[in-house]
Amino acid sequence: MSNEPISGLRERERRRRRVNRIKKVIIGLISFWMIFSLTAIVILTISITAANKRIDNVEQHNQADATGNSDSKKNDVDNNIDDNIGEDYEPTDDPIDDTGEDEPIDENAIKVYLTFDDGPSENTEKILDILKEYDVKATFFVIGKTDDYSKELYKRIVDEGHTIALHSYSHRYSSIYKSVEDYAKDLQKISDVVFDATGVRCKFIRFPGGSSNTVSAVSMKDIIKYVTEQGYVYFDWNVVNGDATAKNYTVDQLVDNVMNDVGKYQTNVVLMHDARAKTSTVEALPTIIEKILEKGYVILPIDDNTTPIQHIKVESVVTQ
Ligand code: ZN
Repeated sequence: MSNEPISGLRERERRRRRVNRIKKVIIGLISFWMIFSLTAIVILTISITAANKRIDNVEQHNQADATGNSDSKKNDVDNNIDDNIGEDYEPTDDPIDDTGEDEPIDENAIKVYLTFDDGPSENTEKILDILKEYDVKATFFVIGKTDDYSKELYKRIVDEGHTIALHSYSHRYSSIYKSVEDYAKDLQKISDVVFDATGVRCKFIRFPGGSSNTVSAVSMKDIIKYVTEQGYVYFDWNVVNGDATAKNYTVDQLVDNVMNDVGKYQTNVVLMHDARAKTSTVEALPTIIEKILEKGYVILPIDDNTTPIQHIKVESVVTQ
């Protein structure tokens, strides 16, 4: 009897503690959920802002290119999005023991094709000087510039025995990949710019972002079909120096990126960029050339004998 009120008090106390514990758990869960959600929102916002900025920069840069405004600061960001897209592509074919090529130089030599996208730029002359110094020829996939200085550079590329090839006039994904017609118009425009400056009608092309790009609104297969019908041959790449990534590789790293992969294939197409901001690419070039030559590989410009390296193979789209 006399224990009744005490046990009643204890029971109340226990209940109070239990309720408090449950309250704490609920508050804890809510706090965790809020922090988690907030963190996710912050991360997403940062990613979206960064992505938007990059898209804007690329578009602005290319607008500047198209008008020949090459001294624009916008060039600094260059085409980061561009050639990142297909870079993770792992080639599975064209192994070293493939002897199916009709190359007049040396059937067994490993061939390296140095390719520069997005020029002409403030670095084109330096790149050409280095190539001249080592007496090697390369391939330039150019974009549309109409100022006199750029016209001279298109011409110098040709005069010094390199292959001039088409990349894009505007290099604006949003407009060139809207439809096959839009792509065709842009391609014709850059073809005419190069022809007017050099007298050369280009046959070789490289799609902005590569044939495996995932940004095109129209199927790349339709574009591939179109360019093939027009007699063009497109080239992707199987080796990169990494200068299109946001990683800002050091000169040594750019060299390593190339040397880690070059020589794995009979035909090695090395993707690099000729753009104002890509000064490390220029600095890395002499060492890259020296190391490739030391290995006994042959450096050549792309021509009719070159086995096209294609992420989406033309045979998979067009029956020739
Ligand atoms: Zn490009």
